[in-house]
Amino acid sequence: MARYTGPVCRMCRRENMKLFLKGDRCFTDKCAVERRAYAPGQHGQGRVKVSDYGTQLREKQRVKRTYGLLENQFRSYFEKAERMKGVTGENLLVLLERRLDSMVYRMGFATSRSEARQLVRHSHFAINGRKVNVPSYLVRPGDVVELREKSRQVARINEALDGVMRRGLPSWVDVDRGGFKGTVKTLPVRAEMTTPTFQEQLIVELYSK
Ligand code: SF4
Repeated sequence: MARYTGPVCRMCRRENMKLFLKGDRCFTDKCAVERRAYAPGQHGQGRVKVSDYGTQLREKQRVKRTYGLLENQFRSYFEKAERMKGVTGENLLVLLERRLDSMVYRMGFATSRSEARQLVRHSHFAINGRKVNVPSYLVRPGDVVELREKSRQVARINEALDGVMRRGLPSWVDVDRGGFKGTVKTLPVRAEMTTPTFQEQLIVELYSK
């Protein structure tokens, strides 16, 4: 599946928000949002009046970019969220968090979602003992995501696992560092999805036009 391969810090600056796309760098003063807190481009520092539509569009772009998706993929998650019971915006975020690449990132096997996506594509993980290399695979409560035997010496995964405490683990996962595996305890909890903070109702308003 296609993905964006351009400069990612530019996206954070465009959204005027840290989207945490670059792993450890996002937590240092090298972060581009900390250094240049204005939109990229020639008119980035100009004053802009943002319409309601513009606000909704920016919110959709923030979520889409955080999870590394393109428009069609994102739209299909939204349509799926709409068909589910409950609040559509919340369903959307829960679905995105249930993606295997997102779960691998949350469990600390990778420092960013894009790194997690690459690790999944390279077949480093198994779910409930079976190899899975599809980043969009939706995990369920009770699933065990395990680093495969051959991948346990990979330095960057071990470094990521050692550094995960800086970010903290969400309540819906349990990680066994020594066993190189994590368990999905429950569905992702909306109240804990706070970095970055989204206003998902704006996306619902945008797509309801
Ligand atoms: Fe770059 Fe991370 Fe800062 Fe975003 S949060 S601008 S990805 S360093």
